[in-house]
Amino acid sequence: MPATTDVVVVGAGPTGLTAAALLTRRGVRCVVVERHTDPYPLPRAVHLDDEVLRIAQAAGVADEVAAVCEPALGLRLVDGHLRTLLELRRDSAVGTHGWPETNMFDQPDLEWVLRTAQTRHPEITLLSGHEVTGASVRGDGGADVTVRTTQGDGSRTIATRFVLACDGAGSGMRDRIGSRMRDLGFDQHWLVVDVRCERDLTLWPGVHQICAGAESGTFMRIGEHRYRWEFRIPAPVPVTDDEAAARLGPWFPDGDATVVRHTVYSHRAAVADTWRHGPVFLLGDAAHLTPPFIGQGLGAGQRDAVNLAWKISAVLSGRADEHLLDTYQLERRGHVVSAVLGAVVVGRVMAAPSALHPVLRGIARLPNPDPIARRVLSPRLRGGALAGRLSRSPIGAAFPQWIGADGRRSDDLLGSGFAVLGASDDPGFASLVDDVDARRISVGDLPASAAWLARHRLRAAVVRPDRVVLAVVDDRGRFHEPRVFRGRHRRVKFRWVTPLGEATDSTS
Ligand SMILES: Cc1cc2nc3c(=O)[nH]c(=O)nc-3n(C[C@H](O)[C@H](O)[C@H](O)COP(=O)(O)OP(=O)(O)OC[C@H]3O[C@@H](n4cnc5c(N)ncnc54)[C@H](O)[C@@H]3O)c2cc1C
Repeated sequence: MPATTDVVVVGAGPTGLTAAALLTRRGVRCVVVERHTDPYPLPRAVHLDDEVLRIAQAAGVADEVAAVCEPALGLRLVDGHLRTLLELRRDSAVGTHGWPETNMFDQPDLEWVLRTAQTRHPEITLLSGHEVTGASVRGDGGADVTVRTTQGDGSRTIATRFVLACDGAGSGMRDRIGSRMRDLGFDQHWLVVDVRCERDLTLWPGVHQICAGAESGTFMRIGEHRYRWEFRIPAPVPVTDDEAAARLGPWFPDGDATVVRHTVYSHRAAVADTWRHGPVFLLGDAAHLTPPFIGQGLGAGQRDAVNLAWKISAVLSGRADEHLLDTYQLERRGHVVSAVLGAVVVGRVMAAPSALHPVLRGIARLPNPDPIARRVLSPRLRGGALAGRLSRSPIGAAFPQWIGADGRRSDDLLGSGFAVLGASDDPGFASLVDDVDARRISVGDLPASAAWLARHRLRAAVVRPDRVVLAVVDDRGRFHEPRVFRGRHRRVKFRWVTPLGEATDSTS
C-alpha cells in the first residue's frame, strides 16, 4: 500500500474505475480502494449511450467496452396491452459522439472490463478487499485517508492531494464532508429480474416501458439469450426465487425462462447539496440518484469523471488555478438534475392513469419530438467556466465526434488537451489559445468541422479536453470568452497559471 499518492479513489464501481483510468492517462498516480473483491453481482445498469462510449474512448477502453455492448434502437412507452404510445428512437450507429446511440450491456461485464484495464496502468494501485474508514483534511490542503482490510486489520494512512468519493448511493464520504442529499420527489419500489431464455423472444430491440399505473413494468433484451424484466411493487419487501419466477409466468407460458438473479430496489431521485469539501469530491451515485427509467445513472457518473479528471490533472501539474475545481459542481449539478427530472417524468407518466395515453399518442404524432428529449438528457453545461453570452451558441455543449474515411475517430485527432478549430485575429481569442496551448486542427484534417462551424455561424471555437465547447468567435468576429465563477455570485476572468501542455498518455 503506497504511503503517498496524488489521488485516492474511494470505490471501484464504474465511476471510480473510469475516473482512475482518465486520471492515469494524464500521468496522475491513483490508489483505488474497494471493499469487495469482485464487482457487485446484483442486476443494475443495462443501458449506456454514445457519450458514455466516448468517455470510455478517452479512458482508453472503448473497444473493450463496446465488445460487451449490443447496439439497440431506443425506448418505447407502451400501454398495458403492449401497444406503442410513444417511441424515442436512438438507432444511429454513429451518434453525435461517434458511437452507437443505444447500447445494452450487463453491469458486471462492464466492471470486469474496467477492472482488467487497470492492470495495464502501473500508476494505479487497486486495493480490493480494503475499505476507507476515515479521511481528514491537512493544513496544506491535502488529505490523510485511513484504509484497512475488510477483516478490520492493517489500518494505514495514505497521504494524498485529492480524494474522489465514488462510494455509491450510501456514500460514507458524503456524510463525512457534511453533504446532504436533496430529495427531488420520487419514491417507488421495483422488483428487478434478470432472465435467461434460449428461445429468441423476437422483441423489438430496445427498452419497453409499460405505462399501466400501479402495474407498470419494464422489459428488454440485454444480449444473446439475456433479458431484463422489472415490475413495480407496492412495498419494498424481499421476494423469494419462486415469487420472482411466478411474476414471469404470464410472459413465459412454456416455463422456458431461467431467473439469473433478482432483487428489490427503492428508486429515488436526489442530488447532493455539496459536491466538494476542500480536497474531497463526490462523484457518481455518491452525488446523485436517479430512477433508472431512461438508463442514465451510471452515465451521469461517467460524465462527472470526465468533467473532473482533466481539471485535477491541470491543477496537480500547477498549470491551472485551483479555482478551476469549483467549476465541477457548478457545471455538473444542473446537468444531472435535468437528466434525473427527465427520469422522474417518465416514471410519473408510467404511473399515470390511461387517460394520459392520448396525450402521448399526440406527442408521437408531432413532426420531431426527439430534440426536446435529447436536451433533457444531455443539456449544455452552464455556469462554471462556461458563462457564454451567446444564448444560442454551442458554448457548454458537446463538440461532436466524427469518423473519418480512414475509420479514425476525430477525438484522436483532437488529442487529450485543448483544441482550436477555425481562425480569428481577436487578441483575446489568440491569448486564450496560447494560454491553454490548444492544438490547432485544420479544416483539411477534419472537413466535418467546417460544416459544424458554418452551421453555428462561427469563425472559430476552442474545445476543452472533455470535448465541451469552451469559447467561440462568431461570424462577426466577436470573441465570446469563458469566465469562471468564484464563490456563488461573483464572476471573474478565467485564469491559467501557466500554459497548459498536452496531457501524456501513459499507455503509449
Ligand atoms: C435496477 C437498476 C437499473 C439501472 N439501470 C441503469 C441503466 O440502464 N443505465 C445507467 O446508466 N444506470 C443504471 N443504473 C444505475 C447504475 O447502476 C449506478 O448509477 C452505478 O452503479 C453507479 O456507479 P458508482 O460507481 O457511482 O457507484 P457503485 O456502483 O455503487 O460503486 C460504489 C463502490 O464503492 C464501494 N465502497 C463504498 N464504500 C466504500 C468504502 N468505505 N471503502 C471502499 N469501498 C467502498 C462499493 O463497494 C462499490 O463497489 C441502474 C441502477 C439500478 C439499481
